[in-house]
Amino acid sequence: MPSENVNVVGRVRPLTTEEVDKGGKSVVKATGRDKIVVEAAGKELSVSLDGAYGPDAKNTQVFQEKCDTLLQRALDGYNVTFMAFGATGSGKSYLMAGNDQELGIAPMVIQQLFQHLRQRSNKEFMVTASFVEILDEKMTDLLNPHNNPMAVRQHVIKGIFVDGLSEMVARTAEELSQLYEQGRRARRIGATDIKAHRARAHALFTITVEQKERQSSKVGVRSNILLAELAGCEATDSTDPKVLAGTQGVLNVLRALGDSKQKGGHVPYRESVVTRLLQDSLGGNAITLMLLSVSPLDKAYQTSQSALQYGQFAR
Ligand code: ADP
Repeated sequence: MPSENVNVVGRVRPLTTEEVDKGGKSVVKATGRDKIVVEAAGKELSVSLDGAYGPDAKNTQVFQEKCDTLLQRALDGYNVTFMAFGATGSGKSYLMAGNDQELGIAPMVIQQLFQHLRQRSNKEFMVTASFVEILDEKMTDLLNPHNNPMAVRQHVIKGIFVDGLSEMVARTAEELSQLYEQGRRARRIGATDIKAHRARAHALFTITVEQKERQSSKVGVRSNILLAELAGCEATDSTDPKVLAGTQGVLNVLRALGDSKQKGGHVPYRESVVTRLLQDSLGGNAITLMLLSVSPLDKAYQTSQSALQYGQFAR
C-alpha cells in the first residue's frame, strides 16, 4: 500500500548536448501521469509513482502540481520535506536548486512561502533557516563553516536537531534565498573535486516557521520545511565504512520504510547521521515528497532502474 506520507515523483531529464554528441540514446520515458518506463537490454521496467515528468516538463510545472499544496500544509503546522534523490548526474541539483536556465524547487519554495505568509495577515511569524552538509559522517555548518563541533540531539518540541548549528533569521524571501545561496557556495569551498564531493555529501536546508495569532500570548504553530539534496544513490564501490554509512544509510531507510509499512518493522535511523536527521521527516506525522531524478541515458540504465526501484520502496 503506498503511504500517504511519502509521495514519490519521478523526473526524467533530457539528454545533455554532450551525451547526444557522444551518440547517447534515451531509454527512459514518462508515460501517462505517473509511470516511468525503462526499456533496455531487451527488457522493460515500468514503475508507477505519484507523478511522472518527462524531459519536456519544466521545474515550475513540478512545483505547481506537486509542491505548492505541500507547502501550504507546512503552514498548517506539518513538517514537510522535499527530498531530491537520484544518481549523480541524474538532475537532482537542476531540479532542486536550479541554474541560470530555470529556477529550482528550493527557490520557488522560498518565494511562495513568503507569499503564503503575507496572505495570513492575522498571524505574526518568524522564519529561520539552517543548512548542514554531511560528508563521511561529519557535519559542516554551511552558514558558518568554521563553527564549533556539532551533535545530533533530540528535543521535546524541536524533535531531532543539530546542537550547535547556526540558525539565521530571514525576514524576507530575498534574505532566505541569500542564505540558501550562501550555503550552496560554501559547499564548493574547500572541495578539491566538486563533483566527487557532491556525489557523496548530503545537504539539508531547514526552514523553520513559527506562527502565532497577533497579540496573542498563546504558543504558536511551529513547522519545519526541509529541502534535502541527498548524495548520489548509485552503487558505491567504496569499502570505507563512513562512506557506506552515508549512502547506504539512505537506501536502508527507504527500504525499511517500505518494509515497515507492510510489517511494522524496525527502521534503522540510528545507522548514520543523515538518517537520524531525516527521522522526523520520514516517519511520524511528517509529509515527504521525494523528487526522484532519473537520467535517460542508455549507458546509465541499470543505475536508473535501481533508483526507480528505491523510489517504489519508499512509497
Ligand atoms: P546531479 O545533481 O544529480 O548530479 P545535475 O543536476 O548536475 O545532476 O544534472 C546533470 C546534467 O544534466 C547537468 O548538465 C544539468 O544541467 C543537466 N540537466 C539536469 N536536469 C535537466 C533538465 N530538466 N533540463 C535540462 N538539463 C538538465
